[in-house]
Amino acid sequence: MKKYVYMFAEGNAGMKNLLGGKGSNLAEMTRLGLPVPQGFTITTEACNEYYDAGGVLTAEMEEQIFKSMAEMEILTGKVFGDLKNPLLVSVRSGARASMPGMMDTVLNLGLNDEVVEVLAKETGNPRFAYDSYRRFITMFGDVVMEIDKEHFDAAMDEIKERSGALSDNDLDSDDMKEITKTFLKIYEEIQGEPFPQDPKEQLISSITAVFRSWNNFRAVYYRRMHNIPGSWGTAVNVQEMVYGNLGETSGTGVAFSRNPATGENKLYGEYLMNAQGEDVVAGIRTPVPISHLHEQMPEIYNEFQNIADRLEHHYGDMQDLEFTIEKGKLFILQTRSGKRTAMAALQVAVDMVAEGIAGKEEALSRIDPNSLDALLHPAFKPEALAKADVIATGLPASPGAAAGEIAFTAEEAFAAHEAGKKVLLVRTETSPEDIQGMNVSEGILTSRGGMTSHAAVVARGMGTPCITGSTASQIDEKTKTLTIKGKAYTSGDWISIDGTTGNVYAGQIETQPAEISDNFATIMQWSDDIRQLGIRTNADTPTDAEKARELGAEGIGLCRTEHMFFGEDRIFAFRQMIVARNEVDRRKALAKILPVQQDDFENIYRSMDGLPVTIRLLDPPLHEFLPTNEKEIIELAAELAMTHEALKGIITELHETNPMLGHRGCRLAISYPEIAEMQTEAILRAAIVVKREGVKVFPEIMVPLVSEVKELTFLKKVILDTAERIFKDAGERVEFEVGTMIEIPRACITADAIAKEADFFSFGTNDLTQMGYGLSRDDAGQILTAYYKEGIFEFDPTSHIDRDGVGVLMEMATGKARKTKPQMHLGICGEHGGDPVSIEFCHLLGFDYVSCSPFRVPIARLSAAQAEIAYPNKDKKILVGS
Ligand code: ADP
Ligand code: MG
Ligand code: MG
Repeated sequence: MKKYVYMFAEGNAGMKNLLGGKGSNLAEMTRLGLPVPQGFTITTEACNEYYDAGGVLTAEMEEQIFKSMAEMEILTGKVFGDLKNPLLVSVRSGARASMPGMMDTVLNLGLNDEVVEVLAKETGNPRFAYDSYRRFITMFGDVVMEIDKEHFDAAMDEIKERSGALSDNDLDSDDMKEITKTFLKIYEEIQGEPFPQDPKEQLISSITAVFRSWNNFRAVYYRRMHNIPGSWGTAVNVQEMVYGNLGETSGTGVAFSRNPATGENKLYGEYLMNAQGEDVVAGIRTPVPISHLHEQMPEIYNEFQNIADRLEHHYGDMQDLEFTIEKGKLFILQTRSGKRTAMAALQVAVDMVAEGIAGKEEALSRIDPNSLDALLHPAFKPEALAKADVIATGLPASPGAAAGEIAFTAEEAFAAHEAGKKVLLVRTETSPEDIQGMNVSEGILTSRGGMTSHAAVVARGMGTPCITGSTASQIDEKTKTLTIKGKAYTSGDWISIDGTTGNVYAGQIETQPAEISDNFATIMQWSDDIRQLGIRTNADTPTDAEKARELGAEGIGLCRTEHMFFGEDRIFAFRQMIVARNEVDRRKALAKILPVQQDDFENIYRSMDGLPVTIRLLDPPLHEFLPTNEKEIIELAAELAMTHEALKGIITELHETNPMLGHRGCRLAISYPEIAEMQTEAILRAAIVVKREGVKVFPEIMVPLVSEVKELTFLKKVILDTAERIFKDAGERVEFEVGTMIEIPRACITADAIAKEADFFSFGTNDLTQMGYGLSRDDAGQILTAYYKEGIFEFDPTSHIDRDGVGVLMEMATGKARKTKPQMHLGICGEHGGDPVSIEFCHLLGFDYVSCSPFRVPIARLSAAQAEIAYPNKDKKILVGS
């Protein structure tokens, strides 16, 4: 028979997947001999089988549960439902990953109209007995029967008012008795049947309810946010009750072994005397700081401190503990790794290594790489923020705090910036044309678009705070008004945004710059010592490149050339190039672009000083560079000295039904090889110039969107021929490579052939994911909503490399490439290059590097170290499909 239930004494901390976090840690603490009330855990497998069986506990499960209850009775000397010495239990949820407050707990289970009397007599404390019973009725009603807690709370408030009680503690035993009676009545009225008196029935329905709560709305939502699969299931813990509500020598509390905000090595927490369970967090009474316990009950305080220390040493991490004191005796009810701010995470890691509690690898593994983001961006001054009101919210698209005067167009932003103002760009959505205005803005707010919209992607790349999809912000770009909740804001008005939280504020909130601390430098150093993956950056400008180097980038993995064309001094020539009707005119226009582009590359090489720089040839479809609104088309036609009709004709001609699969990437350079020639010339001439200055250079020319090796063969010849011409002309050579982006499924499948022509591969997982799924991220919003609802997807499938599908393509391409060229270098330059779980996958594939936006470089350094710690090079195995 399968084992569905484990006594605490049978489990250990390694059994998290089966027993959940809470259960496995309760077992571990039991093993360590800590004062933990007795109990048992029903496994996550039971939860899954409960769902498979259509939402019922099987006979086998019930049998094992009651067998374990019988064992608990022996261990505790108490009997469930007994009228002499009754055993009461709690029924607690506990999944593999901690999901605080997402699922449900029932306390004091086993009470009924008779047992409560026994408890009152036995303890000589009827107030306690009825307090416990009324809590049980509330929790059972709420969790198991889904009776709105409001009903009970309202009745409680009424009685409190009537008896003049300020807090729950002022209620005496008669009040509690009355409350209990009222609650039983409310229960019966709403349920249409009396409160269940049989403890066994209470137990089974509570366990069922906890399993059910795994799929309640907030739990599903939490899982989506944190990428926790529904298939993990939750465990259920049944545990002997200890009573913090037995009077003034009893109490309950929660405490961290260190300060979770700063990392300071000092107990941090709160407690309440004569209280139970959730009272501390529920805010019914104001809890007292844990330091006070030192005076109130010094022995208990010291014992707790010792246990916290011992658990820290045991787990090698800061702990978050729940405790209860029953008549002067301490019990530990939960321990887990404590959630902490990024600042605290670094402090704790550095301190724990110094204190010998954790090794470097262990300490590094405990830091959430994504949290580092918060340390690299400006934040609002806490005093200033406390006084501010949130006027709207949106998606936290790019972290950091920003305040500025509103500008509604890129031009307006640029002009205001030139005039020395701080600007906040507010638009319905942004487009590539806005790049210059975005670049000078402190922050960006859009009313439309998601986390992967143009504004979001570009802002993250620039490290500019950004909120997208703020639907409550009505933006009228024509009249230049932003309306939020009926209040209008216009150009020059101050607003503030927090791209970390998605909150929009009226007025100017003071910000403070990010500070890179010594701890940060230490953690980065440790990471660099361990990691195997190289870390490059996606940077299009010298400013980005320098920022990335400061943050530890070891080269550029993706320099997109198209952003370079949007500058005021070059967009005109570029548009001339687009509208040219023949090669001669096109070459004329390209010749004008050449020097500016060369200049950009020189500066990028200088800032990278000898580190590799991968430059991608022109990628986006040409229509993106032409205006769409009539006024601008008329203006441009005049500038270009062509008729309005002619320009419109060209725009119509460039229009594509499906631009994502249209005339872009290498296809542009195949139609117009002179574009690739000009770009190659700019890349290599720049290299020669800086080489003469004594700067080391190593350009890698990257051809985008290849699906067929002959495309690469064709363009490689164009590139190499151009190179020869330039080297001859300059009387000097520079070393460089020609490689390709792998971003079309067919390129993965034919990677062995493509590898013959390529010096390197860089996986463009943004496109590869979209084409792998056949799903455009920009249009996914509505589709995903339906898919979440039906449980087809649990979270956005594009947010991490999909190991089951896209990952298999990558593994295939990697294997084929290495077969053709064992030493070929491989990297990734999609946004996944900055995503910790995707970085782990790249590590498993044995890539040489990942490339990400400058501000994610530290995240990538730590993630790469964590990947090596979890999967050391020696036993690297590809985990596709896991
Ligand atoms: P959550 O995951 O929401 O914290 P818990 O299962 O940890 O839920 O329980 C909620 C509260 O009830 C906590 O304060 C916990 O300490 C308390 N509690 C749980 N089981 C017992 C018990 N057997 N005796 C006393 N208090 C308990
Ligand atoms: Mg808890
Ligand atoms: Mg692409």
